[in-house]
Amino acid sequence: MSTIGFIGLGIMGGPMARHLAAAGHDVVGFNRSPEKTRALVNAGGRAAGSVAEAVAGADVVALMLPDSPDVESVLTDGVLGTAEPGTLVIDFSTIRPDVARDLAGQAAEHGLRMLDAPVSGGQGGAENATLSIMVGGADADVDAARPLLEVVGKTVVHVGPAGAGQTVKAANQLIVAGNIALVAEALTFLQAHGADLPAAVEVLGGGLAGSAVLDQKAQKMLDGDFAPGFRVDLHHKDMQIVTSAAAQAGVVTPLGALVAQLVAATRSAGDGGLDHSALFRTIARLNGDLS
Ligand code: NAP
Repeated sequence: MSTIGFIGLGIMGGPMARHLAAAGHDVVGFNRSPEKTRALVNAGGRAAGSVAEAVAGADVVALMLPDSPDVESVLTDGVLGTAEPGTLVIDFSTIRPDVARDLAGQAAEHGLRMLDAPVSGGQGGAENATLSIMVGGADADVDAARPLLEVVGKTVVHVGPAGAGQTVKAANQLIVAGNIALVAEALTFLQAHGADLPAAVEVLGGGLAGSAVLDQKAQKMLDGDFAPGFRVDLHHKDMQIVTSAAAQAGVVTPLGALVAQLVAATRSAGDGGLDHSALFRTIARLNGDLS
């Protein structure tokens, strides 16, 4: 069993940390707003008052933070100078691949071993420990992390060296955003035709149009239930990652560029705090259906 300093106990990090505690690990959690440590303590973990306190004495440091600057600042201010050499740092956050590579290099200079291990599967995946985890880093470090990763994930795949996990996650976010936009357009189209929506969603789900997005988001769009989940603000961040990583590689992603604009428009309309399925509201607005 490991001692795990877990930083970032939000929608995803909270349930992940609790699963690790339930599996018998000594999980010491820190979150910017301290009340989020309460659920971890109730699940058998411990609360720390600072990043450094969570990291001191840990064999493993797990991060689940919003964006690249958050991971950079937590790592440089609280982890690099505090963690014991040999500590395994697992960054579950979705950040820029180039930043992940750079941070892995900095961690190595401090004698730490770092993996980028972004996840897919949403809040439900975190709560049910069924996440898909795309891991970048050295073979031996991935092998060492695998038993922990398999506590929170169902599909754990080593996709390459440092940063590779984030590259695959960017592709994941491109696919998910595009899928959400098309499901939103299809539902708007079906509504306009007065179609039997539950029947349509059921039969679409059984054919090539079926997807996890259709299964998990279509009914919520129809119900107007946009509680996050995965916030539009975070998907906007991810579309910026896709856009810059594509430009770095000299690749054009025309549909991705359009979907990035739709995500940005959703945010500009004041829906940044809603679930990314609120792209449906943007499509409705474009059709004059929403004030
Ligand atoms: P979230 O609910 O906003 O959680 C982030 C947590 O990090 C918050 O509790 C926040 O504290 C805390 N935090 C921020 N800066 C901190 C700092 N400097 N020190 C300590 N704690 C800090 O976001 P999330 O949905 O869990 O997403 C986390 C990451 O997972 C993101 O990179 C996201 O893109 C990725 N992701 C999310 C989903 C999803 O469905 N939600 C799915 C896959 C991947 P406060 O309470 O003070 O804000």
